[in-house]
Amino acid sequence: MTEPMPGVDAVDTDPRTAELRDRLATVHRRITEATREAGRGEEPRLIVVSKFHPAADVVRLASLGVIDLGENRDQEAGAKAAELSNLDLRWHFIGQLQSNKAKSVVKYAHSVQSVDRVQLVTALAKAIERQQSETGRPDLECFIQVSLQDDGGEHRGGAAPADVGLLADSIADAAGLRLAGLMAVAPLGVPPEAAFERLAAISEELRRSHPGAGAISAGMSQDLEAAVRFGATHLRIGSDILGSRPPVG
Ligand SMILES: *Cc1c(COP(=O)(O)O)cnc(C)c1O
Repeated sequence: MTEPMPGVDAVDTDPRTAELRDRLATVHRRITEATREAGRGEEPRLIVVSKFHPAADVVRLASLGVIDLGENRDQEAGAKAAELSNLDLRWHFIGQLQSNKAKSVVKYAHSVQSVDRVQLVTALAKAIERQQSETGRPDLECFIQVSLQDDGGEHRGGAAPADVGLLADSIADAAGLRLAGLMAVAPLGVPPEAAFERLAAISEELRRSHPGAGAISAGMSQDLEAAVRFGATHLRIGSDILGSRPPVG
């Protein structure tokens, strides 16, 4: 009998890894099915949102083939990225970002999906310029977060659709930033379809002036099928893979 490689066996028999493998497989099946039903050829990219979950879970996910991780707080994301710098991971920043955190975020982030104001673009442009001159890192992918909230509902962040054009131009004009497309969170308490349909229309409009900015990051655990139907190219799935998070205080 051949001896198992050290470490691999431990991962194989770890119950949390088995749980994550099952949940990840279920989510991948849902994505495959939704892509087929939408008549789309290519599946959206899955970003596993690891916020509030320990670095050890990210190691388990990496052993299951995950490379794209989403985080929404700089302190937590930066610590995990530093601890796991030996792994080939791509960190996507998906939370509200203060301009004074730009310097920190460009040290580890592959993308910032929550760009919502010109002041933040300016801060990211300045930070990436310095980071690239020090480390030669690749351009930072930027997604404009759009608010799909009609007046009266609970605000979940993002720029007004009317401001997307201005933000897009400022990102496109900045050396070191690459405009990828749009990101949005469906409003609470209403069916997500109407919101994602609106997002698709805003994306179409954006692509008239920025043809390369076709990415649409939409779809979370509860609404990934609707997001796939309306053209999402990136899905951000947390709780259906990692389980529930501790409530935010
Ligand atoms: C937490 C979070 C997600 C993941 O949500 P789940 O419902 O856990 O899948 C996706 N996008 C953003 C912006 C988030 O903050």
